[in-house]
Amino acid sequence: MSSHSLPDSRPRSLWSGLIGQDDVIVTLQAAVRDAHGPGESGPAMTHAWLVTGPPGSGRSSAATTFAAALVCDEGGCGSCQACRTAAQGGHADVHVEIPEGLVIRLRPTAEELVRMAALAPMTATWRVIVIEDADRLTPDAANHLLKDLEEPTPHTVWILCAPSVNDVLPTIASRTRHVGLRTPSVVSIAAMLVNDCGVDETLAAFAARASQGHVGRARALATDEMTRERRQQYLRSPMNLRDLPSCVVVAGEVFEAVSAVADARADQLDEEEVHLLKSRYYAEGVTRLTGALKRSHDAEAKELAKEQKRRRKRLVIDEVDRAIVDLIGLFRDVLTVQMQAGVELINGEMTAQIEQMAAGSTREDSVRRMDALEHERTVLFSESSPRAVLEAVMVQIKDPKVRVGVA
Ligand SMILES: [Zn+2]
Repeated sequence: MSSHSLPDSRPRSLWSGLIGQDDVIVTLQAAVRDAHGPGESGPAMTHAWLVTGPPGSGRSSAATTFAAALVCDEGGCGSCQACRTAAQGGHADVHVEIPEGLVIRLRPTAEELVRMAALAPMTATWRVIVIEDADRLTPDAANHLLKDLEEPTPHTVWILCAPSVNDVLPTIASRTRHVGLRTPSVVSIAAMLVNDCGVDETLAAFAARASQGHVGRARALATDEMTRERRQQYLRSPMNLRDLPSCVVVAGEVFEAVSAVADARADQLDEEEVHLLKSRYYAEGVTRLTGALKRSHDAEAKELAKEQKRRRKRLVIDEVDRAIVDLIGLFRDVLTVQMQAGVELINGEMTAQIEQMAAGSTREDSVRRMDALEHERTVLFSESSPRAVLEAVMVQIKDPKVRVGVA
């Protein structure tokens, strides 16, 4: 034990992704301390958690940070192998379930998770199972988890994420300890961007406002030129909607932009994973695998390719959702001007265009457009094709009295 160690600066790097969530950090750090204590865990630790918060507030970031801190020998140093692999999704004792579809079913997903939860941790003190979007568990799937949530295998921790407590079954809520994140303020996001990303205050203020409280989005806007350009393209799209055919054309252009963003991200992740898989099978100097090793490698490679394909699809959907959220922000600004509300605009740099749109439409139009876009966000996460959703978005922006695909 050294009095010269820097207890503050080390944990901060791991927890610094949680912006404006000081209460939550205190709770989770106390849990990690009790989880790493000698013998039985102390009272601040428990085996089942429910992390709630609005989209972008950092639900999954809180869950994976907590997971990393639990599998790190030092309770989350932020720099060891365990911390790094847990944060990147490559730790053997941390499983993060990210649903691709609208629901998480009993078979195979919930059954697999319960099987996984029954295993002792391989290298760490804890095995951690994170379910992002636990609100998508079907009742069957949720019920299958109940016994485990109540009496988990020793050294297994469940961390469920959902928008709010009301989004999960009461039986789930009652068996988990609740941690609630709030929407981070524009000021706290901007401060993070200046401190962590080293961007200047003007850019930080813009990115924080434009992100509408979504931390990951703010970071991308502050640090990535392409993200800013794409966002501009999404926001300019309503100006090119003259008639029905142009709606289809514009939707196609936005879809191409969205796909470029998603593909760039997917390519990068895919490449890292393929490299990791290779490095596990090919020892120094080995150029060809044979026998059982080859079969095992091929099976893993096939499974990985399937996972990657699913993720690529999900990344497209996520980016389409961002485009729609940006457009909702635009029409909120138009409505703000129409109501003369005097509230700061999300897209202050587009004031001239927004004032023009406000003069050329009614408040009712703006409200209808925002409603339609909110509806299309929910359609997006069902079975619908993202491109078709964008077409519906453009048609309803063009003519707010039209309703597409509403039963
Ligand atoms: Zn560590």
